[in-house]
Amino acid sequence: MTGAISSSASPQHGLTDRLARWARGLSGKAETEEEEPETEQRVRAGGASNREINRRRQLYADIGDFLFAHDLDLTPINFSVALDYLTGANIGVEKAIRAVMMERGTITNGWIESIAAEQRADEITPESLSSMLDKVEENLDQFTGLMHESRNSAKDYGAALQEQAKDLAAGGDSESILSRLVGLTRSMVEKTRQVESQLRDNQKQTQALKSSLESARRAAEHDHLTGLPNRRAFEAVLRDELALAQEQQEALSVAFCDIDHFKIINDTHGHDTGDRVLKFVAGLLAKASDDRCHVARHGGEEFVMLFRGKTAAETCEAVDGVREDLANRTLVNRTNGERMERVSFSAGVANVLAYEDPRGALKAADRALYLAKEHGRNRVYLAAETD
Ligand code: GH3
Ligand code: MG
Ligand code: MG
Repeated sequence: MTGAISSSASPQHGLTDRLARWARGLSGKAETEEEEPETEQRVRAGGASNREINRRRQLYADIGDFLFAHDLDLTPINFSVALDYLTGANIGVEKAIRAVMMERGTITNGWIESIAAEQRADEITPESLSSMLDKVEENLDQFTGLMHESRNSAKDYGAALQEQAKDLAAGGDSESILSRLVGLTRSMVEKTRQVESQLRDNQKQTQALKSSLESARRAAEHDHLTGLPNRRAFEAVLRDELALAQEQQEALSVAFCDIDHFKIINDTHGHDTGDRVLKFVAGLLAKASDDRCHVARHGGEEFVMLFRGKTAAETCEAVDGVREDLANRTLVNRTNGERMERVSFSAGVANVLAYEDPRGALKAADRALYLAKEHGRNRVYLAAETD
């Protein structure tokens, strides 16, 4: 549809444009000083405004400058790292680049490859999980095989013993029967030892796999920096808590808490201090957590809290208590001993059960958070249930 609008609208606009430029030229005004009206911008670009296109162009140029300044090859990985660095989309990459630039002044192709490899190693990829599961399966097969083998040899031993006992009862040569019995027992003992040692190895491997899987699960569900559950884990908790609240007819409320002007904290004190502030706020929020209150890092400098058994108004009060506690503290930048400007957060709260779908409640809490920001930050807003 946008295409149709733009093609029917453009000839006319083109003419007006040219006339406007001509008039501007006569008045001696530089063309670039003037911004075009937003509606016109959108029609021309088929969705994106001129400002947005200029922003992308600038970013594209910055990526090029970055790659050439460091004499980097034009590879997808170098583009992606430059993009992450320049947009701040990947804090880990940004930090690593800042550190290496401070140390050496430049970065190289090899260095980029090594940090990309490090990032991949940290990730729990579907491939690494699947190889762990393959090993578990292999171990289980081996274990089943060993048990089978051990049962069969015990059965064989029993049958052979019975055979010898029959011979003994029938008055056979007791000495030779006895020596055969001793031989049988020895081989059974040997066999048992072998199986035992293989079982021990199997058990050791299974134990190691169990703890790798455990840490994979932890890493997949927790945020590396704050140690809090991440958004994915929170979504599962929300489903469980919703079922519990409905079953036990309890209240259930959600709160989004977002640190105020966190970008300024980073820009003023550096990313490491920013990280410490994040951990500090996470710790303060986590103090409230128990089996009826769950706190998670939803992303960036935003946290989410879920309260079962508290109405939305009670949740507002509880969150406001944490807000006040934080706002009354004076945090100190550990690197230089400087006092930091007041650190605060804003929050939006919603009653989960007032919405057909919990996603509706999350949206409402997010809208309330937005209003709390709009109205000055460092405050907690309750979503109107008609939202
Ligand atoms: P507002 O009050 O409107 O929320 O402003 P803000 O500056 O907090 O919000 P904005 O979304 O503009 O900036 C958030 C910043 O948080 C940008 C991003 O670089 C930073 N950030 C996100 N995750 C991390 C992190 O793990 N560590 C650090 N140090 N900074 C982070
Ligand atoms: Mg913020
Ligand atoms: Mg935010």
